[in-house]
Amino acid sequence: MSSSNFSELGLSISALKAVQHFGYEQPTPIQAKSIPILMDGKNLLGTAQTGTGKTAAFALPLISRLDNKQKSPQVLIVTPTRELTIQVAESFHRYAKFVRNFHVAPIYGGADMRSQLKALKRGVQVVVGTPGRLLDHISRRSLDLSDLRALVLDEADEMLRMGFIDDVETILSQIPETCQRALFSATMPGRIRNVTKQYIGDAETVAIDGKTKTVEKIDQQYITCKSHQKMDVLTRFLEVESFNGMIIFVRTKSSTIDITERLQARGYSTAALNGDLNQSLRERTINRLKKGQIDILVATDVAARGLDVDRVSHVINFDIPYDNESYVHRIGRTGRAGKTGKAILFITPKENRMLRSIERSTRQKISLMVPPSNKTISDGRIKRFFDQLSKNMEAAEFPELRSLINDFSRRNNIDMSDIAAALAYQSQKDLPILLPKDQASDFDVPDYGSGERKRKKNSKNTKGSKNAKNRKKDYQGKSRENKSKFGKKDQRSAMKPKATRKRKQRKKAES
Ligand code: AMP
Repeated sequence: MSSSNFSELGLSISALKAVQHFGYEQPTPIQAKSIPILMDGKNLLGTAQTGTGKTAAFALPLISRLDNKQKSPQVLIVTPTRELTIQVAESFHRYAKFVRNFHVAPIYGGADMRSQLKALKRGVQVVVGTPGRLLDHISRRSLDLSDLRALVLDEADEMLRMGFIDDVETILSQIPETCQRALFSATMPGRIRNVTKQYIGDAETVAIDGKTKTVEKIDQQYITCKSHQKMDVLTRFLEVESFNGMIIFVRTKSSTIDITERLQARGYSTAALNGDLNQSLRERTINRLKKGQIDILVATDVAARGLDVDRVSHVINFDIPYDNESYVHRIGRTGRAGKTGKAILFITPKENRMLRSIERSTRQKISLMVPPSNKTISDGRIKRFFDQLSKNMEAAEFPELRSLINDFSRRNNIDMSDIAAALAYQSQKDLPILLPKDQASDFDVPDYGSGERKRKKNSKNTKGSKNAKNRKKDYQGKSRENKSKFGKKDQRSAMKPKATRKRKQRKKAES
């Protein structure tokens, strides 16, 4: 059974409060399917990757089922890396915001042992950790798993890839028989299946990577940037792109409002469309877009369901959708009535797997777009500045103003070009036409979407693949080489012997 409402999933009041507090309107597909299973105490095998909302898919039900009388650890999450450990521990902290006396301990190598020992001694309900350090604590008896009620293996395929699978099996062999188990993995290679058979036992399976139909007439591109750069990238894009109507998709109600306000402040006629608006207000907002009274809608998936407006020329996926099907639904809001449309997807570095999954399921390439540079923006502003100047000069003569300026020039002995430059400066103060020179690092994030990284790894050509370079569409119409340091490092490590690489990877991940 899957539900489109959090309140129907059987979660505790405090978990529901958290969901509401963080502005989540509806469960993502992986959440709708997994939460009831985990709430029932059953084992689960989930095929899902980062970005699908899988952390909340296990955190919310496990938080809901905590026993507030038990002092020893109740829930253990095993993750492949220190970063993921921190991230998952933070998510538990967030989702347990309304649970009294809640404690979670992140446990990973390279960090101070004493503070971890202290945290475990004080008593925690949830432990999140990497396999090596967890085993350290188990053998020191500082981590007691004898009363564990639930265990989650997160990103199991990554743990296999990084050589942790034996450690994971050792941990699994030490948990109580009665402990509930869940395993999440983006892929299900044979070795993971074996672990599943041996240690997970009877489990319900959940997968969200369904096949979807292809989309035509829509030009699809993606931009790689870090989360905090998204707003900057969006405003750059809006400045250089000519569009008719636009829908910007985000994940939460609060984001619809936040982005709407920021765009309005920049002079765009924008409105928010979210589940808090009642049906008639929603229809009125959509009508305003239809009539051209507003040009941009910032929407959540729920609110934009069934939205059919011919003048939508662009769909921006500001936040990546949770599954491939939503992606197809979202971009289908453009390219209506036989018109062509454009869909832009913002990808943060950790979401590259989802990009590839979307490409696979739609069987279409999404090409890389480099965010408009300062130079491109500057060129546009200069052109508009002079166009406006020429228009003004054609429209009227301004004899009084001219004699005023002539007088000023004569009296003060100032050259006309100096006066013109000062006037230009004055008129562009709010929107400078000359921007600083581009820095190579402005949007220099690793780009390994669309299998590009794989190609580089297999390639002996350390200068990067020609195809990869050619796929990038820059606003200046040039192909630009990916200069990311990450890329270079990646190529270097690709040439190291496999065993050394694995050892190094393991060390790095845990510390
Ligand atoms: P994850 O796949 O667990 O890494 O989650 C990806 C992102 O989605 C996180 O930033 C979450 O805060 C966000 N998220 C998770 N579930 C929901 C939801 N139901 N509605 C909106 N955002 C969500």
